[in-house]
Order: sequence, then structure tokens, then C-alpha cells
Amino acid sequence: MCVVNRPRILVIGSGFSGSIVAAILRKHGHHITLIDKASHPRFAIGESSTPTASLILQTLIKQYGLQELRPLTRYGLWCEKLPEVGVGAKRGFSYFFHAPGDRPKTTVGHQGELLVAASHSQAMADTHWYRQDVDRFLLEYAVSLGVTSISNCEIECASYDELERTWQVKFNMVERDEIFDWIIDASGAGEVMCRLSNEDIVSRPDLLTNTSAVYGHFRNIQDYDNLLIDAGMDISDFPFSSDVAAQHHVFTSQWLWSLRFDNGVTSLGLVSDLNGDVDQVDWSTMLTTYPAIQAMLTESELDSATPSLCSSDRLQRLSSRGCGPGWVALPGTIGFIDPLHSTGIAHALSGVERLAEIFTQDEVCQLAVNQYTEAVYREFRLIDQLIAGCYHLMPSKRHFEAYCMLYFTAAHNYETCRMEISANAGLPGIFLSDDFQMVELIEEGYHLAREISQSDRWEAPELFEQQIRELIGSFDQIGLCNPNARSMYRYTAIL
Ligand SMILES: Cc1cc2nc3c(=O)[nH]c(=O)nc-3n(C[C@H](O)[C@H](O)[C@H](O)COP(=O)(O)OP(=O)(O)OC[C@H]3O[C@@H](n4cnc5c(N)ncnc54)[C@H](O)[C@@H]3O)c2cc1C
Repeated sequence: MCVVNRPRILVIGSGFSGSIVAAILRKHGHHITLIDKASHPRFAIGESSTPTASLILQTLIKQYGLQELRPLTRYGLWCEKLPEVGVGAKRGFSYFFHAPGDRPKTTVGHQGELLVAASHSQAMADTHWYRQDVDRFLLEYAVSLGVTSISNCEIECASYDELERTWQVKFNMVERDEIFDWIIDASGAGEVMCRLSNEDIVSRPDLLTNTSAVYGHFRNIQDYDNLLIDAGMDISDFPFSSDVAAQHHVFTSQWLWSLRFDNGVTSLGLVSDLNGDVDQVDWSTMLTTYPAIQAMLTESELDSATPSLCSSDRLQRLSSRGCGPGWVALPGTIGFIDPLHSTGIAHALSGVERLAEIFTQDEVCQLAVNQYTEAVYREFRLIDQLIAGCYHLMPSKRHFEAYCMLYFTAAHNYETCRMEISANAGLPGIFLSDDFQMVELIEEGYHLAREISQSDRWEAPELFEQQIRELIGSFDQIGLCNPNARSMYRYTAIL
């Protein structure tokens, strides 16, 4: 079934994904209204970008002529061209494993550290997005292209006319009803269209990952590398500064993210495995249990953006519907798994890319919309396995590290595949979620992880490493899970 040409489109939510899709479709000539229940600038979480995200953004920029967004793809360009938009450099992923009572330390064999480079230099580095600035910048960009933006605006009621194939929408901020041909839901956890469709949004499907988070923006966080140096540790073989990264401090059943912005703000978040062995998920228990973290936070204070810590219920969600007659949702609205591996921004952008493709055809094809939605659900299942296995293996650094290599394999192969496909070939599913072999190897890896954790058998990490090496063997182009790397991976970037 195909529907009207040149639609009038309502986009709900001016996070980065809503604004980018609005900008692209406006550029294509559609009439776009973009509403948000809040107004910018506003605090938003989801800040650590990845090479996958940069790659998708680069394609969008090229394909739809969004030159003004090019600086967002590299740290060096960003600093040069958009100094007013907050950013932090991200050379890769760094992990430190802590036992209760540990002070900042490293070991010669890196028994407690893992660093994985994602770029060759600071100029080419990925970025942490200071979302209050980035989201505002992108909204202003969309508006400069002619998108009609209404802040502090929510849908009061909406009805779909099946015959006319149009929406009649009443907003709280606008006197008269408005007519739209399509609604794109980019409201994130708002899940606006799912709620409007009277779907059961309370029930949560059988996702494997089960975590909650406590987080906020801080000032005066000490560099962890400096604490290591002050403690007399040798960090000379770190491939990059562990602070110029998505820094993970891993405890048993919990981990802390640390993302530094150039403006002095650091985003910190403690994620707790609700299936795990966690008595207390609170911040002060973490500080008293882990002196290395206490040292990092000695002089810290909360930034005004988050005067008190934010805390979540279970983070995982997956809507019961991702599309319906005349509407479709972006991935960040369909669901969310977990901050581990920073998959959210890339996944959201991959949704923007696919919806842009669908909505810039002469006619919007409902079948294509349905197929896109089904693909997003498959992707969430894959991401869920990639993440849930890590939580199972958190008690052992070697097991955890080996399992992380499944994510790096999937991400690297997805990136390579994108670089190699010809312009008219279909886009691969994110992390190759439509590649049978990739899906199978991740599933197998997950079952191994669950078995080890359930049987509490941690005594043979080398066996698990070998199993992971065999699983990723045919996909591994960069020497992942390699004992000779001694947990310091220097060369995983594709650009
Ligand atoms: C704790 C946590 C940590 C995360 N960390 C990372 C990370 O490090 N890296 C990463 O890649 N991803 C991360 N994510 C995921 C990331 O936050 C999302 O992928 C990303 O924010 C999705 O962007 P978006 O633009 O689709 O939606 P959002 O950023 O959620 O924006 C939704 C917009 O919709 C608006 N809205 C909501 N309800 C309504 C309504 N009823 N009417 C109108 N407007 C509405 C909101 O005001 C908001 O502006 C994290 C998520 C969480 C929860």
C-alpha cells in the first residue's frame, strides 16, 4: 500500500534524531512541523558517540547536502568550526576493573585495564556530545531550513482518518487542529504514538539486560591518568589517555561511566545490574567501597544542569509497536537497552538514515515502514545479547574483555561493510543484525557467557578467550581477543 506524495509530516521530539530527520525531509521539500514538550537548551543524557555514529552521520551529510553538520563528525573539525557547541574528545573505550578497597593502580600485564582505540589521533577522534548544546544547535539548523518548530508543545489528541490517510491533531499550544499525512515519533522514552494507540506501554518484553542508573553532570573531576601517575603507576603503554575516552570503571555487577567535556563538565553515571549481586545502588556506597573513585571525585561538585543526581528505574524498554497506520517511530523511541557500548546515538542515526530514505521516495511505502520497524526490533535483540553477556561476566576481567570483543567485531564489520557497499545496495542492519553468521556467533557467545556465570566457573578464562577467538575468527580483521595485545588495542579504527 502506498500513500500520498510530498507529505506534511509531524515530528514529535526535538532531540538530535528528531531535528536531523526534520532537517533532511524539509530539505527535500516536505512540510515539517517539529514539536517538543520541553524547550532548548535542556539537559539530556546519551552523550558518548562512536565511529559507527560518525560514519552514518557522514553518509547523511553527503547524501542530503547537510554540509553545516560536518563538524559534528570529528573532534578536530568540531573544535575548529563549532567552538560554541560543547564537546569532548573520545579516542576510544577505556576500562578499569576495581575490587573493593582498591586505590588507583595498573599492573604490568594489565590484569585490571583494557584500552581500545577507535581513532588514530585527537583530530580524527570521535566525540562526547554535550547534548544541551548539540540538540539546540540541530534544532536551530532544522529551523533555518524552514522547519516549523513549536516548543513546550504536546499532542492533546489525534485521530487518523483511514480513508483520507491523514491525521487530525490537536496541540496544547495551538488553537486550531492541524492535518498531517505522517507522524514520525522521535519522543524517546515519551513513546507518544504508542501511548496514543492505546498500546500497553507498561509491560516490558523479555529483554535480557536488567539495569538501572544514577547519573549527573559534575565539575572538578580529577583525571584518572593523573591519579595513576601520582600513585607511581606506569601508563606509558596506554595507546591514548584513558580520560580522553568513554571511561568505564567496572565493579562486580556495577560500572561507572565517565565522559569528559572540554567545558569542565564531566558526565558520570553508575549503572547497576539488577540481576546481579548489588546490595546498594547508591552513590555514597560506591564512594566508600572504591577509594580510586573517591579520589577522582574528591573535589567534585554537581553542575547546575543536574542540581541533584538523576536516577532511573529499569533502563530497558521496548515498545509494543514501532509503527502503525500513518506513523512510525525512530529507534530511540522504539526502545533502549543500556549505556554500555554507547550504542544509542549510532542506532538512532541509523534509524534516521532509513526513514530519510523511505520518506524521500516519491511515495511513502507502508511496507518499507513495516520492514524498517521489524529490523529495529531485531537490532535491539542483538544489542541486548551483546550487552547482557557483559553483565554476566563482570566478575572476571578476562571473561568480560573477551566478550566485549563480540561488540567490537560487530561494530567494526558493520562499519567496514558500509564503506564497501555500492551506492545502490541496501543498507546493512546495524552491527550486521541481518547477517545470519554474525547473529549466530553473538547468540552462541551469549549462551557461553550465561553458562559460565550461572555455573560460577571462572577458573579457565583462556578457554573462553579461545572460544571467542574461534567465534569471531572469520570476521576479525583487526586482531581482537589477541593475548599479544595485552589489553591495549591501538589499531581498530577504519578511518
Ligand atoms: C542513562 C542513559 C545513558 C545513555 N548513554 C548513552 C551513551 O553514552 N551513548 C549513546 O550513544 N547513547 C546513550 N544513551 C541513549 C541515548 O540517550 C539515546 O539513544 C538518544 O538520546 C536518542 O535520541 P533521540 O533524539 O532519539 O531521543 P531523546 O534524546 O530521548 O529526545 C526525545 C525528545 O522528545 C521530547 N518528548 C518526549 N515526550 C514528548 C511528548 N509527549 N511530546 C513532545 N515531545 C516529547 C523530549 O523532550 C526530548 O527532547 C543513553 C541513554 C540513557 C537512558
